[in-house]
Amino acid sequence: MCPITDTHVHFDAAPPAIAACVQRAVAAGVTRLLAVGGSAALNASASLAARNFPQQVRLALGWDRDQATKLPPGMPFPPTDGLPLAAIGEIGLDYHYHAETQAAQCQLFGEMLREAEVRDLPVCIHTREADADTCRILDEHGSHARRAAGTLGVVHCFTGGQDFARALLDRGLYLSFSGIVTFRNADSLREVARFVPADRLLLETDSPFLTPVPKRGVENEPAFVVHVVDLLAKVRGITRDQLVEQTSMNAERLFGPWPTPTP
Ligand SMILES: [Zn+2]
Repeated sequence: MCPITDTHVHFDAAPPAIAACVQRAVAAGVTRLLAVGGSAALNASASLAARNFPQQVRLALGWDRDQATKLPPGMPFPPTDGLPLAAIGEIGLDYHYHAETQAAQCQLFGEMLREAEVRDLPVCIHTREADADTCRILDEHGSHARRAAGTLGVVHCFTGGQDFARALLDRGLYLSFSGIVTFRNADSLREVARFVPADRLLLETDSPFLTPVPKRGVENEPAFVVHVVDLLAKVRGITRDQLVEQTSMNAERLFGPWPTPTP
């Protein structure tokens, strides 16, 4: 069976819990994970997961919007400690929770996009209630070569409307859907998930947050991305296997290949 790829995982647990979580994911067929940082703590736990599970877990490091007013001036990019990076992330803007820090968020987002260009890596973008500034900063600082090649990055956990989806697709980005698409009140998001081109669609859990239906009430984990698979396959009128194959192929096109598992 084609491996399932969870393109956005946060590990905030202790090493034994990370190991158990990866094992349950593998047992569920979710053998490719992208561990995503954003803060010092998330960067450290993502690095730990990537170091301990190099067959399954690849790494994204960066500074997210929460750090915009916390980082000392001139703070360098998070240390990679010799680990290969698959992406820069997560980065971006959140005006829902942090409206008062908009200017600082915009500056940091631009810096992270330039860092991605220097390192020739795709980005994992968070954006909430910041549609216009997201597009503006992508136009100013997102690599135009990568945009044209369709390798600039992904807007993770997409929850916006159709117009914003089109604006991001026009900028060469992928859209990734989390467990939110399984929520009862998410009809308009399911409509968006229906029209995203097959070659721009990605899957994620954003675990430990946003547990999908029917697992509500327990902490989310990568194994549960299968419920996002089921929902998206149904919405798009294709088989589960077709959905898995498309999205895993897309993840490799954007982030490069995961290691071939040793038998
Ligand atoms: Zn996240």
